[in-house]
Amino acid sequence: MIIVLLGAPGSGKGTVAKLFTEVVNIEHISTGDIFREEIENGTEIGKKLEKTMVRGSLVPDEIVIEAIEQRLKRPSAQNGVVLDGFPRTTKQAEYLKEMLSKQGKKIDMAIQLKISDEDIIDRTIERRICSNKKCGAIYNLKYNKPRQEGICDKCGSSLIRREDDNIETIQRRIKTYHTRSEPVIKYFENEGLLYNVDLKAEDKVTKNDIKRWIKEIKN
Ligand SMILES: [Zn+2]
Repeated sequence: MIIVLLGAPGSGKGTVAKLFTEVVNIEHISTGDIFREEIENGTEIGKKLEKTMVRGSLVPDEIVIEAIEQRLKRPSAQNGVVLDGFPRTTKQAEYLKEMLSKQGKKIDMAIQLKISDEDIIDRTIERRICSNKKCGAIYNLKYNKPRQEGICDKCGSSLIRREDDNIETIQRRIKTYHTRSEPVIKYFENEGLLYNVDLKAEDKVTKNDIKRWIKEIKN
């Protein structure tokens, strides 16, 4: 199963992706995580990424595609993947389709998490994440509080606020997202793969939701 997750930063793609890995046992591929990993490991791709990031420019399609292609070839990705943060441009989407068809595979669905800008802001400024990278639990001080303040329920590590979870950065990210994502959303709509999920700030996606989406899409 190959799933593409679409949604503005703060729409909850990370959480939904994690649920998919649990419900259908597929791998979560996040471009954010990949980029961080490649940079940390000092790979060739990592070096290229670092250069573009220092300049503050967008990562070119070629570099993103190269990084994703490598991930898709891994044995752990053979049962399926949920893509988070990719494709971000129509060119990337077309390339993904081509890359998959060479392997006799195809995208099963592109799920768009739709949530208003106000709700995203509301969500993001209250977000806290587990400092233990292996755990990755995400909380919200308003809608999804940890049992003990500042401590992860799952692993007991401390909770932290992401540096870029402040209002100016969020607003800028949302704006950029809308401008850039429109053609990609249109692309998936034309391909007959788009599935919209309307969410409010307090909505919590569950495993049952994931099961229902999969069913609805298969019909
Ligand atoms: Zn944790």
